[in-house]
Amino acid sequence: MPKCIFCSITDRSVATELIYEDEYVVAFHDVKPVAPIHILVVPRVHIENVADLGHDSDGVMTQLTRVANQIARQFDIKTAGYRLVVNSGSDGGQTVPHLHMHLLGGHRLPELAR
Ligand code: 5GP
Ligand code: ZN
Repeated sequence: MPKCIFCSITDRSVATELIYEDEYVVAFHDVKPVAPIHILVVPRVHIENVADLGHDSDGVMTQLTRVANQIARQFDIKTAGYRLVVNSGSDGGQTVPHLHMHLLGGHRLPELAR
């Protein structure tokens, strides 16, 4: 099976400019941004999606959120506001099967589709 694209980015086998990295998490610009600031925050561990989080992965969402909040401060959008999005599965709009959080901001975001 071909390697997951986000695993390839986190292990540096696919070169991508990283905005942030630590032992557990990396962040980089989305290749097809839908907002002026559109950054993906990705755990190094390959967990397919939020539905697959188990007791052994307690804390992963907290890490992603903490890093997203830190990047939002770095990009100076804390006060204006921003949106954190996690898509899960095909109905949820997930296209890359490796858990990730979208950080979206930099302008007034559209209301969520109903
Ligand atoms: P999802 O639809 O799964 O919630 O989000 C996946 C996101 O990853 C999409 O917004 C897509 O543009 C982005 N993406 C897919 N492949 C790559 C890539 O190779 N590099 C980067 N930087 N972003 C990617
Ligand atoms: Zn992966």
